[in-house]
Amino acid sequence: MNKIGFIGLGNMGLPMSKGLIRSGFHVTGYDLSETAVLKLKEQGGEIASSISEVVASSELIFTSLPSSKAVEEVYLGEDGLIEYSDSSKLLVDTSTVAPELNQKIAEACKKKEIHFLAAPVSGGVIGAENRTLTVMVGGPTEVYNLVLPVLEVLGENIFHVDEQIDSGTTVKLINNLLIGFYTAGVSEALHIANKKNIDLDDLFSMLNVSYGQSRIYERNYQTFIASDDYKPGFSLKLLRKDLEFAMDVADANQLDLPISKSLLELYKSVEKEGYGEKDMAVLYQRVKEQSRK
Ligand code: NAD
Repeated sequence: MNKIGFIGLGNMGLPMSKGLIRSGFHVTGYDLSETAVLKLKEQGGEIASSISEVVASSELIFTSLPSSKAVEEVYLGEDGLIEYSDSSKLLVDTSTVAPELNQKIAEACKKKEIHFLAAPVSGGVIGAENRTLTVMVGGPTEVYNLVLPVLEVLGENIFHVDEQIDSGTTVKLINNLLIGFYTAGVSEALHIANKKNIDLDDLFSMLNVSYGQSRIYERNYQTFIASDDYKPGFSLKLLRKDLEFAMDVADANQLDLPISKSLLELYKSVEKEGYGEKDMAVLYQRVKEQSRK
């Protein structure tokens, strides 16, 4: 399985594609953004001008798309992946989408005997670049076994959660709910340090060896807050999307999660204030600005 297609060459898709090219795979990429496809070409990838071209030149096709709407369009649209695929194709969605969409795509694939896995990833852009992602896979075991050697190129920790297609997505949404909490906590905690004139580098050194340590604190502080540069990364609007999906899962299971609900409201209002395109770590900057008012 050497011919790989990649649809969605953004913050995650581009470094994942690069990793595959570096490992000797032939990658054909497609994205709505011309800049994105040109970046893939620079790395030695082929450019396709349509989804049908990607399907024609690939055995295994990955997608890494920003919203359920984009994933639905790319898989189920008139000119989408399912329209052009047959039982010889393997489709793997690494995007984080609503669990019901995983099910809808799996049902459409089943009708045409197309193999499909829903395999969201964690580890961010750095994980994608260093090929250390965690991959949480839902779907049939035989399909998982076929794709596993390629997933092992993309990531370090690959988990087959369950045959249930949306099982990996459920784990991923739980993960991102915690990311939402940690990011909010770090933002307000660092604000106290600032007010009390505690150097943030010193604070990081101390908390990094204390129970207040977390990978999100490390990521948000070292990559974004310390340099005051919030180019994503993982945009705040993508985190809001995942919190919304997590709350949908809670509602569908009659779970009352008031703290998580208020967290979602916080991210929604911060996004409305214009912070959505920046990395989620920007919440710290917003907390500081808010307290000046
Ligand atoms: P992004 O916005 O940087 O990239 C998405 C890419 O998809 C863009 O280049 C866009 O032009 C392209 N696109 C959109 N609609 C398209 C369509 N219909 N056809 C073809 N291309 C299309 O997003 P990202 O940060 O790379 O995230 C991608 C997915 O991975 C999301 O579901 C996100 O939740 C998930 N994710 C992101 C991170 C992260 O740290 N950024 C980490 C883990 C998972």
